[in-house]
Amino acid sequence: MAENTFHVEVITPEKVLISDEVNSVEVPGAHGEFQILTGHTPFLTSLKIGLLTVTKGVEKILISISGGYCEVMPEKTTILAHTAETAKQIDKARAEAARKRAQSRIDNAEKDSSIDIDRAQLALLRAINRIKTKNMK
Ligand code: ATP
Repeated sequence: MAENTFHVEVITPEKVLISDEVNSVEVPGAHGEFQILTGHTPFLTSLKIGLLTVTKGVEKILISISGGYCEVMPEKTTILAHTAETAKQIDKARAEAARKRAQSRIDNAEKDSSIDIDRAQLALLRAINRIKTKNMK
């Protein structure tokens, strides 16, 4: 194992996205962004919709996640996300369509009581996050 690296797993209920030795991880914590480096104090926290950046040597992997949990343990860090896609995997057209759909639901929520505005707002945040992550590539 190279110096200053630690094991990270980025997993969702569907797949293992990353299982690797890395140098750092920048995480969208529910209470703010934070960075994990080797030797970080063990802790557990929840995550918000945002950008997760995994750095391995000179390589930076940009990942959009839609909330979940982060567990830092002495032997490994686990990011358990509801959904996670690398910038490469993001289908921008799909995210644009999801953004428009969510925005139109939000705009119509006042006159249509069947619309769940909280759900539409979360869908909008997920779509915007995917578009931003894709544009950073
Ligand atoms: P959509 O309405 O387009 O399905 P959504 O925000 O409701 O968007 P999610 O429920 O967050 O979708 O994700 C469902 C699955 O589809 C997950 O596996 C997620 O990784 C994948 N996914 C969602 N949007 C995209 C996208 N734009 N590009 C690639 N994968 C996506």
